Amino acid sequence: MKKILVTGGTGFIGSHTVVSLIERGYHPVIIDNLDNSCRTVLDRVERICKVRPTFIEADVRDASALDAIFSEHDFECVIHFSGLKAVGESVEKPMRYYSNNVEGSIALLKAMRKHECWKLVFSSSSTVYGDPEQVPITESAKLSVTNPYGQTKLMVENILRDLSHADQRWKFTLLRYFNPVGAHESGLIGEDPNGIPNNLMPYIAQVAVGRLESLRVWGNDYDTPDGTGVRDYIHVVDLAEAHINALEHFKPSHGCRAYNIGTGEGYSVLDMVKAFEQASGQRVPYSIEARRAGDVATSYADAGLSAKEIGWAAQRGLAEIMRDQWNWQHNNPNGYTEQ
Ligand code: NAD
Ligand code: UDP
Repeated sequence: MKKILVTGGTGFIGSHTVVSLIERGYHPVIIDNLDNSCRTVLDRVERICKVRPTFIEADVRDASALDAIFSEHDFECVIHFSGLKAVGESVEKPMRYYSNNVEGSIALLKAMRKHECWKLVFSSSSTVYGDPEQVPITESAKLSVTNPYGQTKLMVENILRDLSHADQRWKFTLLRYFNPVGAHESGLIGEDPNGIPNNLMPYIAQVAVGRLESLRVWGNDYDTPDGTGVRDYIHVVDLAEAHINALEHFKPSHGCRAYNIGTGEGYSVLDMVKAFEQASGQRVPYSIEARRAGDVATSYADAGLSAKEIGWAAQRGLAEIMRDQWNWQHNNPNGYTEQ
């Protein structure tokens, strides 16, 4: 059975990918410091898959922990999710972000080189496109970032591109996620943000379940059909499967390749509110507020290259996203924390 090292594997996207890996016959080994996740995820994955994933609690910046893991296991590939992702916090605490996301990636790459493991799938983000000049966004669009979180993603992308030029043994696939949402259809794993969510979907879900009072819609004066921001929302299980496609499509002359992981469809904030109300049967009250600093009007992917080169395309639409988001929220009103 091929072993895959999954950094950040108890997190939102990591846990869904661990399930997909097990279902596709791989043996995932997770390293996570539980900074933004918890051990309950392992119990839930075990309930879904009937297999408990191997888990090591460690920081990816810990060179000796990495050395021990790579000495014990022979990995086919690494999928690198670990890192911090809150844009606002990254502005206030940039060093925390550069350290976790950039230093962490460098420590991982050093361990990989030492142990001759040359393939890595990296969690990048559509944030590397900044305010896009045109939509849908293709992988060749100009890269520009507006906050330290985005900088860390672009810096790691650049490090990987440089390494692949310097040594052709390296093979890197950069997956640029658009907006990951939804949950596993079992309702056992999903997104469990700390505190008040920043992102739209968990916020809507917490309003519907009665944890939050009302959604604040950040601006209705954008140049979009209803004036609210338009995004490409991708079901997290589709996103998880993109990682399996990525690791099964490394070519002999691979170098460093980037792929958009989105549906190619854009939906507005109000489209999302309506669709969630329909799926849940709950009302989601909202108020229109001023624009949020740093937001762009419209962002959605051209996902043609990932279909062509790694054979991946989203299979789930808005109806499945809303059904699974509600199922997760309804069954786990307090996330992984027991009542
Ligand atoms: P998450 O916070 O749920 O998962 C990240 C995991 O990494 C957590 O379990 C956390 O405990 C762990 N971690 C953080 N720092 C670590 C360290 N130094 N050592 C070991 N473990 C560490 O986030 P997610 O939504 O699953 O995101 C996964 C990756 O995808 C991140 O790199 C994120 O930047 C990227 N991404 C996420 C989104 C999104 O909207 N969720 C969009 C684009 C890109
Ligand atoms: N949004 C909103 N209210 C919220 C959170 C988000 O109106 O409480 C809007 C936001 O302005 C953007 C869209 O929802 O147009 C998606 O925002 P999110 O933070 O989920 O993702 P990102 O900004 O990273 O694309």
